[in-house]
Amino acid sequence: MKPRTPFRTFGYALAAAIVVGLCVFRALGGAAGLQRMAIERTLEPKHESLFGDGRLHVFTLGTGSPQPGSGRMPAANAIIAGKELLIIDAGEGVSRTMGDLSLPLDRITAVFITHWHSDHFSGLGELLNASWNMRRGHPLNVYGPAGVDRVISGLSLVYADDIGYRSSGNVEKLDPAHALGTPVEVDPAQSGSAIVFDRDGVVVRAFRVDHGHVKPAFGYRIDYNGRCVTFSGDTVATSLVAKAAAGCDALVHEVINAKMIRSAAAVLRETGNPEMAARAERLIDYHADTIATARVAAEAGVRTLILTHLIPWSRSRFFGLLYTSGMSEEFAGTIIVSDDGQRFDI
Ligand SMILES: [Zn+2]
Ligand SMILES: [Zn+2]
Repeated sequence: MKPRTPFRTFGYALAAAIVVGLCVFRALGGAAGLQRMAIERTLEPKHESLFGDGRLHVFTLGTGSPQPGSGRMPAANAIIAGKELLIIDAGEGVSRTMGDLSLPLDRITAVFITHWHSDHFSGLGELLNASWNMRRGHPLNVYGPAGVDRVISGLSLVYADDIGYRSSGNVEKLDPAHALGTPVEVDPAQSGSAIVFDRDGVVVRAFRVDHGHVKPAFGYRIDYNGRCVTFSGDTVATSLVAKAAAGCDALVHEVINAKMIRSAAAVLRETGNPEMAARAERLIDYHADTIATARVAAEAGVRTLILTHLIPWSRSRFFGLLYTSGMSEEFAGTIIVSDDGQRFDI
């Protein structure tokens, strides 16, 4: 008897797999059965067990900066604490990423914007509109610096036709009162923090940060059930953040790697792009260098430093290895370069 060739063995295995696949397909009711399963899976509530489990759950939805092509979406985070689903910043794509993670858009209870650079709110209209489309039937406060009224008024103009169609009753009859959000201006003192949200044991404090010429700019601290996470927003490395985050479990901090920016600027000058070089270097003046950020985390006494809003960033594997170089000499806790869609349980 001739031994079976590898090709022949593969052919038998493939045929067997096709037969088994067809049997399973029939057993599940064919295409209609598969479609039913897909719909049931979509309707199934996800992350239900995270609500009210006594922990803080942080999702870094967008960990990029305005830099296109970095493979990261702009600033956005979601937090599940008790019954609340809070959003910190609403950069472009926020509702899409939430959908990809099966986070329930209709359950969002509040949105907090750190400042009015577009990479922090360019997805706000989309988020409010999508959560309304997904049957959010409750009012939604949008907390932010001065200007929040203007932004919401602007969105009401932009979305006027869409709101009209969806509340007309022709196909849908959504309540137009909940189509957008209620603006709530936040104004913490120059130093220290102000409680801006306090419900069912979830407390959110706003505090001022130093984002150079961009004023005002805030960070937010969230406390729940003896656990705590602080978001720096966009800022230079400053004791303002260290004080606000004092004793927290985790600090989600923006970063710029100044060394990388300076060497990139040198290359830009050599290649005849002095304006681009100068612009890149100016970013260092109002963002937080990696090494100085590690010192802020040490001063705050947090256990974990989660890096976000990474400037610059490249998809190269080696780039990530170099990015945090030197930080662990300044901060003994855990340092994590977060990714879009990552979840942290505190
Ligand atoms: Zn900014
Ligand atoms: Zn930014």
